[in-house]
Amino acid sequence: MIPVRDDLRALAGYHSPQVDVEIRLNTNESPVAPPSAWRDAFAAELSRVEWHRYPDRSASELRTAIAELHDVSPDMVFAANGSNEVLQTILLAYAGFGRTVATFEPTYQMHAQIARVVGSTVVEGERQADFTLDPAEVRRVVETHDPHVTFLTSPNNPTGLVEPAERIDELVELSNGLVVADEAYAQFADWSALSMLDEESPLVVTRTFSKTWSMAGVRLGYVVGPSWFIAELHKVVLPYHLDTAKQIAGRLAVRFVDEMDERVAAIVSERVRLSTAMRAMPIDVTPSGANFILFRPIAGRGREVWQGLIDRGVLVRDCSGWPRLANCLRVTVGTPAENDAFLSALDEIVMKAAVS
Ligand code: PMP
Repeated sequence: MIPVRDDLRALAGYHSPQVDVEIRLNTNESPVAPPSAWRDAFAAELSRVEWHRYPDRSASELRTAIAELHDVSPDMVFAANGSNEVLQTILLAYAGFGRTVATFEPTYQMHAQIARVVGSTVVEGERQADFTLDPAEVRRVVETHDPHVTFLTSPNNPTGLVEPAERIDELVELSNGLVVADEAYAQFADWSALSMLDEESPLVVTRTFSKTWSMAGVRLGYVVGPSWFIAELHKVVLPYHLDTAKQIAGRLAVRFVDEMDERVAAIVSERVRLSTAMRAMPIDVTPSGANFILFRPIAGRGREVWQGLIDRGVLVRDCSGWPRLANCLRVTVGTPAENDAFLSALDEIVMKAAVS
């Protein structure tokens, strides 16, 4: 066997166990397919593609469509294969060996994971017991470590909490490095840091087509930021990384903003219904601005509740063994029928645990 890079030896990969059950509420996907008009338009354009040619290397039509969506110029947009590749590209350009990346835990695991894979040192700030972020902790982390890149995820994954705008303001004010607001779930929340972007500020915002746009299978994400920042990303990304089909898929998707807004509204109203029902059970529920809810059963252990749900045909994300998340589970908002099945299974499990 050939030894892998020394610093990778201790690193575990990213795991999200898939179990073959009827109702899968574990990966924060949209519970519904994209609009059928999008499928038809996509199929029609695919039939006209010149497949023997490389794709448009700068993805200019796609970037223009995304830029119009956010009312910015196309040179402020960079797209890649899912927002994970966007994050990797940012870290390749702005982090890497000898550089420091800051996160505030618990948060999306891939921030620290990709930072380590590209050789950076990761410093982990701590959230409070209720998962909110104390401004004093933000100050401590930035002043002690002077990170080259700092991540804030809003709404945060896996907690669902929306970060107040002041936290981002403070971070941008304090930091000498890049501030990345990961907004994979922002459409489900009541505000976005997109309005805070400008050419002078080191703030950038990442987004994905995987959640609100019902397009997790396409693998498309993007970042909006100052044009000087976007220009650096093009230096590290592989040529022709974004295939022709994906560029078409994204360009057509943004024509369906109204349908997307309707889906978001339906999911938000289901999220409210789920949270209310769960709060009536012996369960701690973290307030969510996303398409998922983090919860901690008071009666019964997290892992046992997770298994109980599987036994009843419902898969949620088991976070109970993760640092700082003892006994916590995360459920993605599904269709009304899926949510009903989840609620009745959960009720049965926690009520049984409460009386035993
Ligand atoms: N950021 C956050 C906070 C996420 O939760 C996810 C998906 N789990 C991603 C980024 C990556 O999304 P994708 O690569 O599908 O765009």
